[in-house]
Amino acid sequence: MRRSRQARILATLGPSSSTPDGILALHTAGADVFRLNFSHGSHEDHAARLATIREVERESGRPIGVLMDLQGPKLRVGRFAEGRIELVPGARFRLDLDETPGDARRAPLPHPEIFAALQAGTDLLLDDGKVRLRVDACGPDFADTTVVVGGPLSDRKGVNVPGVVLPISPLTEKDRRDLAFGLELGVDWVALSFVQRPDDLREARALVGDKAWIMAKLEKPSALEHLDEIVALADGVMVARGDLGVEMPPEQVPVLQRRIVRACRAAGKPVVVATQMLESMITAPVPTRAEASDVATAIYDGVDAVMLSAESASGKYPLEAVTIMARIIGQVEADPAWRTGLEATHTEAQANTPDAICCALRRVAGLLEPAATVTYTSSGFTTLRAARERPAAPILALTPQASTARRLALVWGVHPVPFEEVRDVGEMVEHAARASVEAGFARPGDDIVVVAGLPFGQSGTTNLLHVAHID
Ligand code: PGA
Ligand code: MN
Repeated sequence: MRRSRQARILATLGPSSSTPDGILALHTAGADVFRLNFSHGSHEDHAARLATIREVERESGRPIGVLMDLQGPKLRVGRFAEGRIELVPGARFRLDLDETPGDARRAPLPHPEIFAALQAGTDLLLDDGKVRLRVDACGPDFADTTVVVGGPLSDRKGVNVPGVVLPISPLTEKDRRDLAFGLELGVDWVALSFVQRPDDLREARALVGDKAWIMAKLEKPSALEHLDEIVALADGVMVARGDLGVEMPPEQVPVLQRRIVRACRAAGKPVVVATQMLESMITAPVPTRAEASDVATAIYDGVDAVMLSAESASGKYPLEAVTIMARIIGQVEADPAWRTGLEATHTEAQANTPDAICCALRRVAGLLEPAATVTYTSSGFTTLRAARERPAAPILALTPQASTARRLALVWGVHPVPFEEVRDVGEMVEHAARASVEAGFARPGDDIVVVAGLPFGQSGTTNLLHVAHID
């Protein structure tokens, strides 16, 4: 199944989108990668969804990526005797480790590590930032606060502590159990929530190894202070605007989004823009103009993928959301200003052989307008470096590794094609031509550009560029 757009769509699965027909319809409409959100649903739910995705993949013949999203250390208040309270601005409110259900004067906050990191003057944000408390005094098991912004507060609402690096692992006990389960199932990507520091990536890598690629979700201000190092350590990055927009003032989110996208594009790491992209489509069959514009902006900036959350997981119009997203991407990519913009924001390659070859690939693709560029890859490295160049022709990724093909499904411009190992350059060119024709990108008479590394099968050896004519 041929896709004519370059940016990819990552769609979250949930109760609205988990039947075999539903998943097939979303894939056909444009979802390239599916997200299994481990903040919701049981292991059985996720296992069933993954099995269905693999069936759909067999049917469509196109590799599909699966991303497991770990909940991470999402902090929550405990419960209230009456289920909910009303906080009034100026009132005193205590948070403590006592498990007794809360009332209008106090509530349990079952996270000792938060109290350890608080100081007088620190703000706590509750329920996605709707309620704001300021710490007046605190100890190892309590914090006395004043309500700055009031409102209702109910059981188990989320707590954010912006601007404070919490001494907690990015992986809770639940995350570790979920991760073991997901890796056993064979997910392709693991998304790590609430990354705070580069060491969080190292900790995750020690557990994940090379079983999956790791996506760092940037949703904490502290992560942005180590942006380049985190980008270097991760395999991909998500601009997680939901929590980022709670921890940072909303006017900073678009600025940070662009900064993160630029850093990822410069490093050649896949970057996803997530959350509220088509939010109103949770309940309406069409998006607002502002939402259409938001998706378009991300595409003009050259992101690898845009994501749907509740729109596809629990909304009323999952299929419509994927369809309109694909149409917006198609419109932007048909605009000559999109290509001009990509060129203008392109950064120089590094001074090494693989990057030099991929840099040449971009120039050759721009001059010859080949029907396709074909990369041979085992680990995915060659293809990622080629995609970094954002060449003006689709990038076929021929790989003998099913896992590499699926991971690459998230990457800008890449069409993964599972393919057997080749032995020599003659065979390589012949197979590249055949694959381009079979995948529907080229016809006899077209030129293609082939990029590979000799010797074959060894990662990081990208050293060959070949222009071939298909006859
Ligand atoms: P979430 O992450 O949907 O898992 O919270 C994305 C975000 O915060 O934007
Ligand atoms: Mn989040």
